[in-house]
Amino acid sequence: MSDTIFSKIIRGEIPCHRVYQDEHVLAFLDINPLCEGHTLVVPKEPARTMGELSDDAAAGLGGALPRVCRAVVKATGADSYNILQNNGAAAGQEVEHVHFHVIPRQVGKTGLSIHWDPLPMGEEALADMARKIARLC
Ligand code: 5GP
Repeated sequence: MSDTIFSKIIRGEIPCHRVYQDEHVLAFLDINPLCEGHTLVVPKEPARTMGELSDDAAAGLGGALPRVCRAVVKATGADSYNILQNNGAAAGQEVEHVHFHVIPRQVGKTGLSIHWDPLPMGEEALADMARKIARLC
């Protein structure tokens, strides 16, 4: 995959407001935050999407994420937060290096709106889809 802005940040070639770092992960503030404390949690391994991440990098990411969430909530005083993770252009991913957005939420204080428009699916269609995905897991 091609080099991204996040790889440059991980290598220290571009500055960031770092909040956490370990062997597998770097977390820093989003440069265009949706609210105070909007943080990006990024694996150091340069994978484009979650499905392309190695097991080791994924485990490291999974360990670091709750830790950063706890810190963001404490630092901002938010009582809620969203974790947002975009994969691919159709999902809104702009930087092609896996990352989680940790977005603290307080009523009226976040520039984030989430609209769910559920697709009606019958029991049989759900069962078919579950079988199809399960075969590939
Ligand atoms: P995506 O749409 O790919 O899920 O989100 C990419 C995020 O990276 C955006 O929220 C954007 O503000 C943030 N971002 C892009 N470039 C930089 C940068 O150079 N530094 C930091 N700290 N954040 C960035």
